[in-house]
Parts: sequence; structure tokens; C-alpha cells
Amino acid sequence: MLDWCFGARRVRQMQRAFRHGKITLMCLLMTVVVLRGTIGAGKFGTPEQDFNEIREHFHNRKRVEPHRVLEEAEVSTESSESNNYATFDISKLTVDEGEDEKPDPNKPYSLGPKISDWDEQRAEWLRKNPNFPNFIGPNKPRVLLVTGSSPKPCENPVGDHYLLKAIKNKIDYCRLHGIEIFYNMALLDAEMAGFWAKLPLIRKLLLSHPEIEFLWWMDSDAMFTDMAFEVPWERYKDHNFVMHGWNEMVYDQKNWIGLNTGSFLLRNCQWALDILDAWAPMGPKGKIRTEAGKILTRELKDRPVFEADDQSAMVYLLATQRDNWGDKVYLESAYYLHGYWGILVDRYEEMIENHHPGLGDHRWPLVTHFVGCKPCGKFGDYPVERCLKQMDRAFNFGDNQILQIYGFTHKSLASRRVKRTRNDTNNPLEVKDDLGLLHPAFKAVKVSSS
Ligand code: UDP
Ligand code: MN
Repeated sequence: MLDWCFGARRVRQMQRAFRHGKITLMCLLMTVVVLRGTIGAGKFGTPEQDFNEIREHFHNRKRVEPHRVLEEAEVSTESSESNNYATFDISKLTVDEGEDEKPDPNKPYSLGPKISDWDEQRAEWLRKNPNFPNFIGPNKPRVLLVTGSSPKPCENPVGDHYLLKAIKNKIDYCRLHGIEIFYNMALLDAEMAGFWAKLPLIRKLLLSHPEIEFLWWMDSDAMFTDMAFEVPWERYKDHNFVMHGWNEMVYDQKNWIGLNTGSFLLRNCQWALDILDAWAPMGPKGKIRTEAGKILTRELKDRPVFEADDQSAMVYLLATQRDNWGDKVYLESAYYLHGYWGILVDRYEEMIENHHPGLGDHRWPLVTHFVGCKPCGKFGDYPVERCLKQMDRAFNFGDNQILQIYGFTHKSLASRRVKRTRNDTNNPLEVKDDLGLLHPAFKAVKVSSS
């Protein structure tokens, strides 16, 4: 049987390894006995410690001596393996806390109790809490950027490293632009797993943070590639929902990629709660999501066959109920609030050659979003090497704009390593960062309020 499974050579290797293992075990045992003797005789401590050790040793000798040696031998042999992260099975840590709450099949899904006076409730809260204004400067709303990933480690060994890069990138942009960040790893509603998880999360955050004027959802697989671009907030003063997209593609063609829900701005108001409620019904996993997927594929242009996703559901909602929502939705295409990576990543060198940060559009995209790469999953829609290589390039492209503040740059867009771009001086405060990125949010608030 063993031969059949592994082949004869492999079995011989295993037998050898086992014999070798037995010898190792014996050697270890002897080492422990000898070591124990040395420590007991006080070779390694201060005289006082030695004395205490010896006293302790004699005091306890009768009780512990014989099997203590054996016990320690066991611990030592085990620990050489148990200290090894590479061979540790992480699923051992999973605690099964029991079943998820079961939804009531007779009740239609809802994101939460109906609220219809949020604008009044929030306005009163803001009146009572003048220290937490929803605008932190004229035309500068208080913004919370929200992103997240599954509660579990990624399904591939490098996924979590890319999640780390992606959140580091977002922290940098937000720090420079006076934006707060929320990273979510909890599945708040088991029915809304996967790409639908953002809906209950967003609703919860809007209601818990009345001081936030705009919530900015950004997928974990999207990165800022223009650290200098400031969102033109005043452009959206009469709108509640901003997504990258095109009116014709959504309302006329009903194309499922007419807008993207990987990076969007949502104003904290009653209208937002209402559109979340209208958006959610196709989300509950299982039969509802599967059946809704069929409707979406049938009704939307070019949509492949798969379960209902939040993006298709939004296109469908807007295309079928334009009168209800259309006037407060701004489909932005003047800059890349979301930018599809496929058309951007091969042009970074050309952008560096011809343009500069702060433009946000095809010349220097605000966001590069790795749609379909699934960097935290097992399988994506594109070759893994291409995705990871291009994610590194996007990260470094953005990171160069941060490093220049401190006089460094990546050796190339493919390189993790950095080189100096200026020498240190004894007048550090006189050094100007090329992009004026140091404290731009502070400048934005100060300039616009003066
Ligand atoms: N996500 C989450 N929790 C999960 C799974 C996904 O918060 O359990 C978020 C994550 O930020 C991810 C986003 O949902 O980026 C959407 O999924 P993905 O980016 O894979 O979809 P794509 O952009 O490729 O369509
Ligand atoms: Mn995404």
C-alpha cells in the first residue's frame, strides 16, 4: 500500500528518516540529561541563583527527579518541530463557536430596523456636538475610508502580504489627506458574505458616526496611485453617491461594467440608508443570490453567468429605477476614482516620463484597482504572476510619491529596494518635498479657510 502511494524509493527514504529520527531522539535525550546536570550543578547562574537552584533541586528531588527528565526530553523533541511556523497547521487555532444565527426563511431580508428620520437625528446630534463637525474646512467634508478583508487568513501564502501592502498604501493616502480609516475583518452579517459584506458594514458605520459626512468604500485590492490628488468635493455638493462610471453605459446600455463598486463615496444621510435598503435584497447567500444572478445575467449587457454581485445589482437598480435615484448619483469619469488595472499598469513608466502626480486621470490615475485578481483567494480570473507583479508595480508607483518626501525612491517599479534621491543636510526643515505632499490636508484646510 505504502509502495503504491509513494513509490519504492520514497518508502526507503521514509524508513531511513525514521531510523535517523530514532537516533536523533536518543541524542536529544542524552543532551537533556547532561544539560540538566550542568544547570543543577550551577554552571550558568549567579552564585545566589545557583544556591537557590541547588536548594530547590534537593528539596524537590525525591518528588520530581525521575520523570522530570523524561518530561523535558519530550518537550525538547516536540518543540523543535512545534517551534516551526512552516509546518504548523493554522486550522488548529480555529475555534468553532457554534452555528451562525439562522435567518428566518419567512422574513424578507433587511439590513436592520427601518429608520426614516436619520437626517433629523443626525442634524440634532451635530448641533449638540460642535466639537465633531461634519465639515473640517469649507468644501472639506469629514471622510471615513472603509475597507476590509475576510476574518480568515488568505487562501494563498502571499495574500496577506499583499493585503498589508494595500492597507499601507491607503494609510499613506489618508494620512496625507486628513481622512480617517476603518479596516473591517468581521463578518457582521453571515448572510451577506463576500462582496456583499460591505453593505451591512457601511450602514452600521454611517449610523454610528454621524460626524462623518462622506464614507469612502475602497476594496482591499485597490491602491492609490496618485498620492497628491484631492477629491473635488465641492463638485458633489448636490449628490449623495459617487462612483466611477458613465451614464450612457449604465442607463442606456445596462452594461454590468458601466460603473464600479470597488471605490465609491456615499454621503451620510437618509437617502444613503434608503439606497442601501434598495441595493441589499439580491445579497443574501444561497438560493436568493443564485436566482438573482440569473436575472442580472439576463437583464444586463455582457454579464457572465454567476451569482448576484453588488456591482451588477447597483447597475440594475439604477437602470430600472433611474427616477428614484438618478438625480443624486454622480457617475464620475473625469478622473479614476476607480481605475481598471488592465489599462493602466503597463503605462506607469510613460506617466512618469510625461506627467506628474495630482492629475488623478489617465495621465496619473488616482486609484488602480486589481479587479478579478483575487489576491487573497485561491483562484483569480488572471494569471497569478501577472497580478502579483503588477500589484507590486502599482504599490511602488504610489510608494515612490511617499518616499520622495523623505528623499528616497524605489530602484525601479519592480524593486522592493530603495535608493537616495538627495543627501541629508544639517538644515532638514529647509528641504522641500518635490510634490509638496507633506501635510497637504493641513494646507488644503488652511488655504481654503483663509
Ligand atoms: N471583502 C470583505 N470581506 C470578505 C471578502 C471580501 O470585506 O470576506 C471585500 C474586500 O475588500 C474585497 C471586496 O470585498 O476587495 C470585493 O471583492 P473583490 O475585490 O475580490 O472583487 P473584485 O473587485 O475582483 O470584483
Ligand atoms: Mn476589488
